[in-house]
Formats: sequence, C-alpha cells, structure tokens
Amino acid sequence: MVKREMSLSGLALLAVTALIVLSVPTTAQSGFLSTATPPPSPTNNGGNAQWTILSNTFTSNFPKGFTFTLEATSTGGKIVSAAVLWRHSPVSSRTRRLATIDESGTKMVAVWEKSPGDAVPQWAGVEYWWLLQDESGNVYETQRWYDEYADNTRKWSRMESDDIIVFWQEGVPDQVGPLTIAAMKRLRPFFELNWAMPLGYKPRAIIYADFETWAEWSPGRGTVGGGLVVVGSTNQSWGATAQVYDPFVQPVEEVANDTVPHEIAHLYQYANGGTSGATWFIEGSATFFELNSGPRIEQRVRRWAREGRLPTLQGTGPGGREAYDVGYMFWVWLTETYGADAHRRTWELVRAGRTQRAALEAITKKSFIEMETEFRTWLGAANPQVPTPLPTLPLFLPPTPTYEPTPRR
Ligand SMILES: [Zn+2]
Repeated sequence: MVKREMSLSGLALLAVTALIVLSVPTTAQSGFLSTATPPPSPTNNGGNAQWTILSNTFTSNFPKGFTFTLEATSTGGKIVSAAVLWRHSPVSSRTRRLATIDESGTKMVAVWEKSPGDAVPQWAGVEYWWLLQDESGNVYETQRWYDEYADNTRKWSRMESDDIIVFWQEGVPDQVGPLTIAAMKRLRPFFELNWAMPLGYKPRAIIYADFETWAEWSPGRGTVGGGLVVVGSTNQSWGATAQVYDPFVQPVEEVANDTVPHEIAHLYQYANGGTSGATWFIEGSATFFELNSGPRIEQRVRRWAREGRLPTLQGTGPGGREAYDVGYMFWVWLTETYGADAHRRTWELVRAGRTQRAALEAITKKSFIEMETEFRTWLGAANPQVPTPLPTLPLFLPPTPTYEPTPRR
C-alpha cells in the first residue's frame, strides 16, 4: 500500500520536476564547485600525421560495466595500438584498458567489467580519453570526454546545478531533487568560507529507493560484520555520496538539507587534509554543514553539559552519536570564539601536516586541556574542568571511507 502511494505521488510530481530541471542553469559555471578545466593537450600531439576522430561512444552496460568505442584515422597509416583511459573524479586514479582494433585499423573497442574490489555505483561520472599510435609510430592523445555510468535497468531522475548533481531512483520522493539543489545553493557561501581547497569537480548525490539496488553494484558492500547494514557511502574516487532512502528513518527534507551536505563535507575533508583522526573532529566538522540539525543538537549537548555528563575530548574522545553532537558543538564554539574562518584555518594546518590537536592549539593559542575547559565552560558544563586525561590510546582508523553505518535519526 505504502509503496503504491509513493509511486503515484512520484508520477504526479514528475511534471513539476521537469519544469524545475529546465529552470536550473547548467551552463553558468560558478568557479568554486564547478568542474575543473581539462588539462591542455600534450605538445607534439599526433606527431607528423593528421588525425581525425570520426566517432566516439560510451555505452553503459550497468551493472556489468561499460564499453568505449572509437573510430579514428591517421595519415600515418593504420592505428596499431589503442588504449582508453578514464577516471571518475580528478582525484581518483586513472584506469587504462587496451582496445581491440579491427582489420582496417580505424575502429577500436575497449571494455571494462566490474569485479570484486573494482566496482563503482551507477551514475558515477566518467571522464575518458584515448591514446592512439599509428603504424608510422605517431602518437595521438584525444580530447577528454565526459559521460556517466547510467543505470538503464531502472527509472531514475537527475537534476544538476552549479553545486551538485542529484540522482534519485523511482520510489524516492521527487522533492529530493529540488530540495537538495536548494540546500546546496544556500550552503555555497558556507562551504566557500570553511574550506581552503575546492573539490575541483562537481559532487554527485545518488539516492536509492531500496537496499537491493544499493547492494547490487558491489555485492557484499552493503553488509559488514556484527549484523550492521551499511546504507550509504561517500567516496572521493567516485566524487559522490550514495545513500539509501528510508522514509521510516529520515524524511526527504532531512536527506536534502542535512545528510547530503554532511556527506559532501566529507568529500571536502578528503581534499583538505583527510578523514582520519578523532571521530568527533571529523564527524563534528561534517555535521557543521547540515542545514537544519543545529538547534536540536545544541539542546541535547547543553543538557549533557548541565547534567554533568559531557564526554571529554581527551584521548580518542567520544564515540558513536556523542561524537557527532559534541563535535558539531565544538566547531560552533570554535568559530564563534576564534573567528568565522576558524574551521578553515584549522583544516589548513591539518592539510599542511599538523595533527588535529596541534592545529587546534595553534588556532586557540592554548593547550588542548585549557581549550577544552574553555569549550566546556561555554557549553554551561556543571563540571567545566576537564576530567583527568587517560593515557593516550592508539587511534583506530576506520577501515574504509564509509560513514554512518547506521541511521543517525
Ligand atoms: Zn559523517
């Protein structure tokens, strides 16, 4: 019953969405979040020959993989060697596949098939180009082309703005598109203020309607030990966050305004010093970019402070949910006390190689314990003195760049 109602409302909203898509400018590039300029062509490209590209195609065979075909000629003779290269974001490594060439020496085909450990979700971007060599030894590198790993086996919607590209599977309320676009637009000045290094690409949000679709592209990825189920993942090498929508856990407004900006902030962390270290530092920083969750978190953390049960930041600091909440309030305090750019300046130091702790000591010009006492006092803690630090425990780094293994709300 619920399912049917959702798809009916989805149909009703499709017309509205189509109008909105048209009204979103996709040509104006705003600079900060937009796609990086492709690198210039290599010098002496093509050698002594004239090269002509007759046709070029990218075909998604999701969930199996994708196929590249190219038709090209050289005045230097038949093409004897051809390879396609591609990457899913400017910060991911390049993959290379040799192509098979037909007898005429002009038609080339290269295929990528997913394998365990080498898979990407549907709608990952694909930037690709070819390297060709003719029988006279001339070498030619083509221009770059852009496509995406389309999932043509299901119905998806797509919306793009200067800030983000959103994909959502049929069954996810269609408002998720315009709401996410609007949230990221509102947050643009906030992202610009808080990160020194731009992403260099336009991030993607891929919202799944069900767990099976999410788990399909990479079998096994959806499950981890201990009976936990992974319902989302954010990865800089795809330049995207992928999330399963569950109306019983999170309304669509929250996905658009809080979850997606939080996960995009993790992508910025990768570009600005990395995501290892204390959970409260990393998750608090990502939560800092959620549009609407602040007041509720503040209420909760100030209550812990009043009641004398505020966890300390010493050692590894709080874990689980407390790490998100206390970490969020920490960044609010730091930016209110040490300047609106204090988050950015701290991450600049981390990116330059300081530890998180040393970066914060440099920004506040205080020892870590003095700084924490000041933070606890600001929160109204019944016990602002920092509890005696435990011997420093080794930090356990997350095994994979995966966040929120369980729904947070
Ligand atoms: Zn997170």
